[in-house]
Amino acid sequence: MQKKYLFAPGPVSIAPGTLLAMAQPIIHHRAPQFAAILREVEEGLKYLFQTKNDVLILASSGTGAMEGTVTNTLSKGDKALVVRGGKFGERWTEICEAYGVTAVNIDVKWGEAVNPALIRSALEADRSIKAVFIQAHETSTGVKHPIKEVGEIVKAYPDTILVVDAISALGVFDIPVDEWGLDIVVAGSQKAFCLPPGLAFASISPKAWQRVEKSNLPKYYFNFLKERKSLKKDQTAYTPAVSLIVGLREVLAGIKEEGLEKLFAHHRLLAEAARKAVTAMGLKLYTAVPSEAVTVIQAPEDVDGQKVVKLLREKYGITIAGGQGKAKGKIFRISHMGYTDRFELILVLSAVEIVLKELGYHLELGSGVKAAEEYLFQHRDVA
Ligand SMILES: *Cc1c(COP(=O)(O)O)cnc(C)c1O
Repeated sequence: MQKKYLFAPGPVSIAPGTLLAMAQPIIHHRAPQFAAILREVEEGLKYLFQTKNDVLILASSGTGAMEGTVTNTLSKGDKALVVRGGKFGERWTEICEAYGVTAVNIDVKWGEAVNPALIRSALEADRSIKAVFIQAHETSTGVKHPIKEVGEIVKAYPDTILVVDAISALGVFDIPVDEWGLDIVVAGSQKAFCLPPGLAFASISPKAWQRVEKSNLPKYYFNFLKERKSLKKDQTAYTPAVSLIVGLREVLAGIKEEGLEKLFAHHRLLAEAARKAVTAMGLKLYTAVPSEAVTVIQAPEDVDGQKVVKLLREKYGITIAGGQGKAKGKIFRISHMGYTDRFELILVLSAVEIVLKELGYHLELGSGVKAAEEYLFQHRDVA
């Protein structure tokens, strides 16, 4: 007998209550019943984003909201500053280039966070830069970028907006959108939202709406002005992913009930316990600025990180993630997002120990598990 477990940084495991909510018969998206749901969901999103801004709901994966943000805020020949320190930073550049926007890249070594002073000097050096694109959490490396500091810098430039990809950050750790002055924040359903893939979100500040009104890049499906107009009537411009939105209502109601602080404390607990385990196993984290969303572990010398992932999945039914791009084979990543608790963390750590030993790494079985358990015992009253 074998159970399947999902510990990848998206898609994540989903709570039974959410699954049941999504299994209900479909309701029509132009009916008052759905408008009431959308109203409730919009309120819940504002709570989660800690914002008064409109939060658009799109039927796509997270990349759809990224692309929509580029095409709705910029114009032909515009320049944008991109913080590029991993796979998802690279995606901002790729989208810009696909639409003829010049990307001015700040290349950050993989595993490191951007130095905010570099953003200030780039904006000083070129006043024509219209937007700054960054990740709150670069999922491919596990790095948290200093978003608060970047927000303070970009705020001083009235014609430049700050766009934050928080797809694997929102709902994991604190990102107070309004307090930090983040103009556009994008998120996706299949990460910390604990939903299946298929929904993307974008919060848009008044400063960003000014850019949207001037934007002339080609666009059709992702049209933020149309979405804003529909949202005023508690609708979406096109047929929404009705079942996912019904599931989202369930998720957001749960978040509201528990409170954001508890949600963040939950992810902190799991991530910190995982880090203790990594050290106790004689392994190293990939980054000095680790996130609470994903623990990124350097594969031991002589062990291929991809083999760790493959063996866990094929032999033991446990899905974690390997490295992407230049980190392929060098790391493996355990996600703490989704419907998962402290004892499932012990489960995945235990499996990682067994698989590493199977692949020839010398460790004492239970060493990582013990360290994690001790941490969890000390923090047994946390979330
Ligand atoms: C998952 C993810 C995305 C978007 O990926 P999709 O597959 O399009 O949902 C973008 N940025 C980050 C940081 C992510 O973690």
